[in-house]
Amino acid sequence: MMPAAAEGAAPGSVGAPPAVAAAATPATEASATRSTLFLSDQHLAAARPRALAAFHAFCAGPARAAVAVYMLGDLFDFWVGDDQLREPIVSDVVRALRGVTDAGVPLFIAHGNRDFLLGERFAQATGAHLLPEYAVVDLYGVATLLCHGDALCTDDVDYQAYRARIRNPVTQRRLLRLPYVVRRQIARWLQRKSAASKAGKSDAIMDVTPAAVAAAFRTHGVRRMIHGHTHRPARHLHVVDGVECERIVLADWYHTGSYLEVGPDGVHERRLSGG
Ligand code: MN
Repeated sequence: MMPAAAEGAAPGSVGAPPAVAAAATPATEASATRSTLFLSDQHLAAARPRALAAFHAFCAGPARAAVAVYMLGDLFDFWVGDDQLREPIVSDVVRALRGVTDAGVPLFIAHGNRDFLLGERFAQATGAHLLPEYAVVDLYGVATLLCHGDALCTDDVDYQAYRARIRNPVTQRRLLRLPYVVRRQIARWLQRKSAASKAGKSDAIMDVTPAAVAAAFRTHGVRRMIHGHTHRPARHLHVVDGVECERIVLADWYHTGSYLEVGPDGVHERRLSGG
């Protein structure tokens, strides 16, 4: 349901791996029709009208021409259970997502640290498939690992302890039995607590660790990974056991809507105009 997490830090210097800046250019219709799209960290909420507008533009536009769309977590700023479907902004978002799946575009949604309670009712309402914590997909011949990214921030010991507790199915069942208004209050409380705890943590603690990244590449036997969460968009090169691996970090939607387009001709960053 909530953070205590480390995302939202200002972009800053990253550790060992060099960051490669990628140019954002407008998508052409021809490329979009053959591409798979990735986005994360929309943090949709009533208080973020620009992100909502950009999201609706994405769903009505580029998403419908894609081969498939992957949303890698924190679509919502908080999710206290599928009874949140009753909220007006949520029904608008669900309708937009349904427009994508009704257009025949497969839609995959991962849980973020804020919306990890997205469940089956949400999936049924949108027609989306909920992704497991780690998923490997073949993208035009390149096996690519997808995840939200919060589990890779292993230096943030407090957050990982909180995560282990809150992701426990017993804890979640107990939480979901509480009345909706109580869960909303807990979400707000956790949000304040998270903001306070982030203020006292360094950028390095809240970023992914090289060890966790290397372990993920090894465990899943891939050379490319796409994730969000840290709000530090970049393309990093890592050398794992002598093999060059690429890690692409998606941008958040705090100021502009953006997504990653992966097609047979490579990887492109796209920004939504007016988002
Ligand atoms: Mn996150």
